Amino acid sequence: SIKIEKLVKKFGNLIVLNNINLEINPGEFVAIVGKSGCGKSTLLRLIEGLDTLTEGSIKINGKEKEGVDSNIRFVFQEPRLLPWKKVLKNVQLGAHHQNEALASEALENVGLKDKEDVWPYTLSGGQKQRVSLARALAGHPKVLLLDEPLGALDALTRLDMQELIEKLWANLGFSAIIVTHDVSEAVKLADRVIVIDENEIRLDIKIQLTRPRVTGNDSSYYEKIIL
Ligand code: ATP
Ligand code: MG
Repeated sequence: SIKIEKLVKKFGNLIVLNNINLEINPGEFVAIVGKSGCGKSTLLRLIEGLDTLTEGSIKINGKEKEGVDSNIRFVFQEPRLLPWKKVLKNVQLGAHHQNEALASEALENVGLKDKEDVWPYTLSGGQKQRVSLARALAGHPKVLLLDEPLGALDALTRLDMQELIEKLWANLGFSAIIVTHDVSEAVKLADRVIVIDENEIRLDIKIQLTRPRVTGNDSSYYEKIIL
């Protein structure tokens, strides 16, 4: 589990996160929503270990976190692919020892096995984002951090990608923490929605799905009630 206790993050005098207490259990799907600038990306970066906290602690399975952890992977709003490497090589960057078989498996999981040998510039925006998802998954992470991963995509591609992310989460068993501006997306995908406002967690809501999780090709879902 990820246990965040009394976390404070400041940039100079600016308090960005104040007294954040949050425990995320293995396999949970958590969404974080909140206004622009409220500290969502900062929180993910702290969990990943890309930035240092000002006060408090982040423990992973009871152990104080130190630096970047290969069990935790990040997907950004922009795909950030290396243009001079073909798709498979890009995905290999996420795999242990750049293992080709793991990269190939990850590309298959996102439905892009046939794009292994092409250059990134030949892909659509949605395909590029699937490649960046594959690069993260190639590391077989225990925790997947997604920072507005679908923010740059059109509405229909978003729906496909939401379904893909849910399927991967259900099949591969990682914990997912997704930051999104889209509250309906949060409610659709997550078991739990966290609202950050004025530097603090204001709401932490459990979501009860009224449909089975998508694990195969069944897409007749997206009905939920909030408890
Ligand atoms: P958005 O929804 O627009 O992505 P966010 O909730 O992800 O916003 P953050 O990127 O976490 O917001 O930024 C939170 C605050 O911290 C902002 O006021 C931002 O200006 C500030 N901030 C972030 N990174 C730094 C930095 N490296 N140095 C100084 N201030 C920073
Ligand atoms: Mg952000």
